[in-house]
Amino acid sequence: MENKQQEHVHLLIIGSGPAGYTAAIYASRANLKPVLYQGIQPGGQLTITTEVENYPGYPEGIQGPEMMVDFEKQATRMGADIRYGMATSVDFSKQPYKVVIDEEKEITADAIIIATGASAKWLGLPSEQRLNGSGVSACAVCDGFFFRGKEVAIVGAGDTAAEEALYLSKMCSTVHMLVRRDEMRASKVMQDRVLKTSNIIVYWNSEADEVLGENKVEGLRIYNNKTQEKKDIAVSAFFVAIGHQPNSAIFKDYLQLDEQDYIVTVPGTSRTNVEGVFACGDVQDKIYRQAVTAAGSGCMAALDAERYLSAKEHQH
Ligand code: NDP
Repeated sequence: MENKQQEHVHLLIIGSGPAGYTAAIYASRANLKPVLYQGIQPGGQLTITTEVENYPGYPEGIQGPEMMVDFEKQATRMGADIRYGMATSVDFSKQPYKVVIDEEKEITADAIIIATGASAKWLGLPSEQRLNGSGVSACAVCDGFFFRGKEVAIVGAGDTAAEEALYLSKMCSTVHMLVRRDEMRASKVMQDRVLKTSNIIVYWNSEADEVLGENKVEGLRIYNNKTQEKKDIAVSAFFVAIGHQPNSAIFKDYLQLDEQDYIVTVPGTSRTNVEGVFACGDVQDKIYRQAVTAAGSGCMAALDAERYLSAKEHQH
């Protein structure tokens, strides 16, 4: 496209979850004058959760969307330039690195922090979408607590599903776990734990056909893909744990990604394989994925960027 608008910034932050905003707070206070682009979902995944009770500093808990407004306000108060817009392509082949926003504006930056997060994968059922937030959740650690003592269901057979089923089994009366094949993908040790837990019932070769309920989840219609049989189970919540997709596609030609597309960082740092490009939050974390760990890694990225930029200035 011709006549692209152009701008040069010192530090560009891409993404607006806890990682991006925390990076912006730290970078502003270090006088790096960060410009942050929020992406299509300002506030990130926390804006689709309800109450957050495990983020330290909120003794009464807080609504996810409200917490992200607080993060944004704090970053703005420190001087970060927060803008609505989506990074649509990048060129990290030479410095200064280029990032195109909304396919039209070209930004060059001395350093870049990537905090684009990950998106939960969904089954794609209309009833799953309709009841999302009303008993359908992609995060047992966030929402399991609301279904204490109740029967719940979970779909998925990887380490996340196993871990979340075990987590739920400690507070829910029964956990119905749907596995679409006759074996689980999860590590052996996690499978063993699941199979030895008396209140987890595993349904092999089983898939979710429909989530039942008008305004909240009241049950699940399950479908056996071997026998074609369908049956309804009464549950109050349905957890979807079939994996996450890190939002790393636009970086794939330049940054090292792992086999699941997570950005690879040097352990214990936020550094990527490209000098001056840092990554934090869920786009580089497939294990912890918590708001508080994302915020912590955003702080690391800002400190790493600051060190990098000041070393670069001293070279000149
Ligand atoms: P995975 O991609 O490993 O597993 C996804 C699971 O969901 C698979 O069992 C898959 O089934 C199932 N699935 C996918 N689509 C559907 C569908 N449409 N219907 C039903 N089931 C479906 O994702 P995870 O999030 O579990 O793990 C991601 C990575 O993170 C892994 O490498 C994992 O080991 C790691 N991890 C490690 C942890 C730890 O070490 N503590 C904790 C959590 C994750 P199928 O097997 O049939 O393909």
